[in-house]
Amino acid sequence: MKPAAPWRTCYRVDRRTRGANITDPKTQTPAVDRGIDLSRGLDLQRVESAITWAQQAYARCDVCAERCHVNRLAGELGRCGLGEQARVYKEYVHFGEESVFTPSHTVYLAGCSMRCAFCSDHGPVWSPSAHGVELPPAALAKRIAQRRGEGATNVNFVGGVPDTSILFILRTLALCPADTHVVFNTNLWSTPAAIDALTGIVGTWLIDLKFGPGRCGKKLAQVDRYWETITPLLAGIADTEQIVVRHLVMPGHLDCCTIPAIDWLERYRPQAAFNLMTGYHPYKMAGHRSGMGRSLSKEERLRSHQVLSRSSLPHRMLDGRWLDTAE
Ligand code: SF4
Repeated sequence: MKPAAPWRTCYRVDRRTRGANITDPKTQTPAVDRGIDLSRGLDLQRVESAITWAQQAYARCDVCAERCHVNRLAGELGRCGLGEQARVYKEYVHFGEESVFTPSHTVYLAGCSMRCAFCSDHGPVWSPSAHGVELPPAALAKRIAQRRGEGATNVNFVGGVPDTSILFILRTLALCPADTHVVFNTNLWSTPAAIDALTGIVGTWLIDLKFGPGRCGKKLAQVDRYWETITPLLAGIADTEQIVVRHLVMPGHLDCCTIPAIDWLERYRPQAAFNLMTGYHPYKMAGHRSGMGRSLSKEERLRSHQVLSRSSLPHRMLDGRWLDTAE
């Protein structure tokens, strides 16, 4: 068997911050930026009770909306392909996330509950056992402390998705200080019980609202009842938690996905911070029959900017930067 690749660690510097010293406080995000408060820590008592919940949930797994009902503690695998242990496949201090989170210690966990046809990382995401490494929670907690010392203002769990590795994340956070700000970068293919377990632990929910109310969720990510599942969860979290909603504009999906997503937020949860991302890249999908094998056209890009500009959302970002500074 091919040996698992070690977890990759690197600093990735984008052109906006090239040359910046990440330990320089002047380059760091203020603790509160337009209502996003990075000084929110985590409740360590809640972490302990959430671990108890997650251990039980893994035994007949229903920690995400797939509800595979496999016993992950006994090595049975559901859609995410994960047993009890998580696999970390890279981590670094990221300068390309939303400006409010930069610099962010981003931890990539293998495995996912969706099967997005346009996934940019589908090796570790779809075949977790062949990628990354199983780490003891103490090793990751130590790395989180190190990255924080280097200037990261938060630890940002992503993947794949963090939802399917919730037990490992909680065991790691139990070893972190209470003033750790946790960003949970989720597709929200989740359940009310999982969200409840993470309340008081996650500092900011960074939520991908991927598709609109039609059949795009089924067609592109192989999930049933996407809109009916996601929107009630999103509404509930927005009422009590600090959130940033992301939407990636996809080629040919402005009318069916982008516009309904913005409309829904405007109508039901307008105070949520929103980031419209226009950097879709087809990766290995050139010529794919789904229509996703191309970048956005100039017209699509322009129209998506117009849709965002005309929206009444008060906290809008374009490609990670607040709209008034991005324009
Ligand atoms: S976390 Fe994995 S095994 Fe559990 S319900 Fe979701 S996809 Fe299935």
